[in-house]
Amino acid sequence: MVNLLEINNLCIDYDSPRGKVKAVHNVSFTIKKGEIFGLVGESGCGKSTTAFGISRLLRPPAQISAGSITLNGQELTHLSEAEFDKLRWSHISIVLQSAMNNLNPVIKIQEQLIDAILAHKAMSAEEAINHAKYLLRLVDINEERLANFPHELSGGMRQRVVIAMALALQPDLIIMDEPTTALDVVVQNGIIHKILELQKDFGFSILFITHDLPLMLEICDRIGVMYAGELVEVTKREDLMEQARHPYTQGLLESFPPLKGEKRRLKGISGHPPDLVTPPDGCSFHPRCPYAMLQCKQKEPEKLHDNKGIIACHLYQEGGHRFEQLQTTSEGTK
Ligand code: SF4
Repeated sequence: MVNLLEINNLCIDYDSPRGKVKAVHNVSFTIKKGEIFGLVGESGCGKSTTAFGISRLLRPPAQISAGSITLNGQELTHLSEAEFDKLRWSHISIVLQSAMNNLNPVIKIQEQLIDAILAHKAMSAEEAINHAKYLLRLVDINEERLANFPHELSGGMRQRVVIAMALALQPDLIIMDEPTTALDVVVQNGIIHKILELQKDFGFSILFITHDLPLMLEICDRIGVMYAGELVEVTKREDLMEQARHPYTQGLLESFPPLKGEKRRLKGISGHPPDLVTPPDGCSFHPRCPYAMLQCKQKEPEKLHDNKGIIACHLYQEGGHRFEQLQTTSEGTK
């Protein structure tokens, strides 16, 4: 599959009175056409900041300080606001956690959908209304709801409207930032199934962001795990289900109850994420890692690529306990 999105060494900083907050540090990953790629990690790990950087929604004091973002071969970081606006909705759109962050509470659904359509596509008012009706039908909402204000819809319906809006111009990439977190599990299940159905029908790629790793394991093709602003592991869903490699990923998995099999006591991850103004030397996870060694405190682990993806951990580097495992998987690619 061809790469749709390529992120290379992306760095996003926030200026603060205490110094630079390195919210995203040297993050690199790709999303293929038609792929669902997940970004997971604790709150504050940089996943939403990465999404906002891609979709040009960062506001000062946040800024992209280094790196590149390429969509369909076009470098995005150099584009002016006007140039980027041409890509918004038609090539890239975003669904935020709470529908009320996407919807204007004092404007009816019809006007909001039509505004988005007409801002980017030339068509008559009647065609735009018909398109808005079509979009609502796509997400299983009666077209009569076009006459409603957002507060007259349930939370699940509002999120479906936002998904319809994101689909309005059939973009190549939809970023979904915790799209179901604010909803109860039954509504969440319905929305997730609708997203998967639409993705299958239209073939767009999704960057899906959540702290809910089990949900990600159900829907994503590949998963990137972020910790303290860095991408520490990227792997295929099947490989993650079989064996998470990074100690932080293992800790995340052990923080959720298993959906199948025997009940087990949840372990969780001790401690707290680091202060991103003064992150620890070496591996930023070392104060919380049960496998931390001397070199973990001294040297940042390199990001190693193999047939399973990317892993940044000294355990998998020369001399590390899991180095042989990495060698075996690398030989598999030859
Ligand atoms: Fe743990 Fe060291 Fe690996 Fe960091 S590099 S995750 S501290 S083993």
